[in-house]
Amino acid sequence: MRFGIIGSRLAGAYLGLLLRQAGHEVLLFDNSAGREKPCGGGVTPKALRTIPWLADRRLPHTVVDTLRLLTRRGEGADMRLVNPIHVFSRSTLDAALREDAIAAGARFFPLRASRFTAENRKWTIFAEGSAFEVDFIAGADGATSSVRAAVASRYAVSDLSLALGYYLPGIHHQNSVIAAFQEPGFQGYLWSFPRVDHSSVGIMRWLPHAEATDLRERVARFIDSHVPGPSSAKTFYAATIPSLSVASLRAQRVCGPGWALLGDAAGFADAITGEGIFYALRSAELLAQAIKAGRPADYEQAWRRDFGRDLLRAASLRERFYGSGRRGGSAVERAVRLTGRSRTVAQLANALISGDVSYDRFLTMLLVKSPWIFREYLQRSDS
Ligand SMILES: Cc1cc2nc3c(=O)[nH]c(=O)nc-3n(C[C@H](O)[C@H](O)[C@H](O)COP(=O)(O)OP(=O)(O)OC[C@H]3O[C@@H](n4cnc5c(N)ncnc54)[C@H](O)[C@@H]3O)c2cc1C
Repeated sequence: MRFGIIGSRLAGAYLGLLLRQAGHEVLLFDNSAGREKPCGGGVTPKALRTIPWLADRRLPHTVVDTLRLLTRRGEGADMRLVNPIHVFSRSTLDAALREDAIAAGARFFPLRASRFTAENRKWTIFAEGSAFEVDFIAGADGATSSVRAAVASRYAVSDLSLALGYYLPGIHHQNSVIAAFQEPGFQGYLWSFPRVDHSSVGIMRWLPHAEATDLRERVARFIDSHVPGPSSAKTFYAATIPSLSVASLRAQRVCGPGWALLGDAAGFADAITGEGIFYALRSAELLAQAIKAGRPADYEQAWRRDFGRDLLRAASLRERFYGSGRRGGSAVERAVRLTGRSRTVAQLANALISGDVSYDRFLTMLLVKSPWIFREYLQRSDS
C-alpha cells in the first residue's frame, strides 16, 4: 500500500520507519521539520523502556535524576528519580528518526500539505503546487493538524493548552528538571529542562484561561530567580499542546476508511503534565501493528486499551490537581509538601513517573498507604 504521512517528526517519522520495515511505500511530508520544535524534550523512563527505537539509537542527551518541585509560596521538594528522565534536543531526536525512515526507503518531501481529497478509495494530497495519490493518509501533523480538520474537526479552545518560553544558552541545573506550580486554579506549570548545550524554559496553561503577556511575565520572573544568565541570546517559542477533556477523548474517533491520526494530531498528550513524546511514538507503533495485521480500524480500540485509560484519568483529575483546596492552598501544593516529607509518597510518585503504575493505581496506593504517609509527614514536620 502507498501511505501519505503528513508531519515528519516523532509520530510521523516513526510510523514511516515502521511501515517501510513492513514493506509499504511511504511518502513523508513536512515543511518545517528541520526547525527546533517547541518542547521540553523530556523523555520519561516508560518511553525509554518501552520504545525500542529510543533504546537502540544512541543520541546526545542529558540525564536528569532529580525533579525539583516548587510552589508559589517558595516551598519545595527535591525528588530523586530512581529511573532518570533523558532530555533531548527535539531537532536532534526528530532528525534522527526521519533519517532512519529515509534510510529505510521512505520518500521525504519538505512541503506543506494544504488540501486532501478522497475519491474511489484513493486520497490526493495537494502540497505547494504538486499532487500525490495515496491509498491511506496519516495525520501526524501536530496540535494544529490540517488532516484532523479535514477528516474530523479542529480542537475546541477548551481542548488545548498554550505553552511558551525560551531556549537559553547554557545549562543551569545540570541533573535536575524544575517544575514550579502557580496559584490555585492555574491549570499548568513552569519548567526548566537542561539540554545538552542549552536550557528549555517555559510555561503551559489551559488555553481558556491563558493570556500570553501574563505567561511571558511569569516566565521572566522564573528565569530571574531560577535560571539567571545572559538574557540577550534567548530564543522565544510558543505552541499549543492538546489537553483533551474526558468528553472529547471519549467522543473522538482517530481512524476511519483510509485515514488515521496519531500523536498530537490525535490529542494524545497528558492533560496534567503535557507529556506527549511517549504517546506520539506509541501511537505510531499501534497504528503500524494494526496496518500490518490488515485491520487498520483496530487502531481505535488499540490506543484506548493501551494508554487511553491514562489519558482519561489525567483529564478527569486535572481540575482537582490544580484546583483550590479547603484552606486556600491547591492540591498540587499539598502534593509537593507530602513528596518532600514522606518517603512513601516520593516512592509512589517515582513509580508513577517511571510508568510502573497508572494514575488509578497511584491514587489507590496513596489511600492504602495513608497511615504511613501521615506518620512520616508528622515525623518530618517535628524534626
Ligand atoms: C512547549 C512544549 C513543551 C513540551 N515538553 C514536552 C516534554 O518535555 N516531554 C514530552 O513528552 N512532551 C512534551 N511536549 C509535547 C510534545 O512536544 C508533543 O506531544 C510531540 O511533539 C508530538 O509529536 P508529533 O510528532 O505528534 O507532532 P509534532 O512534534 O508537533 O510534529 C508535527 C509536524 O507536522 C508538521 N506539519 C504540520 N502541518 C503540516 C502540513 N500541513 N504539511 C506538512 N507538515 C505539517 C509540523 O511542521 C511538525 O514538524 C511539549 C510540547 C510543547 C508545546
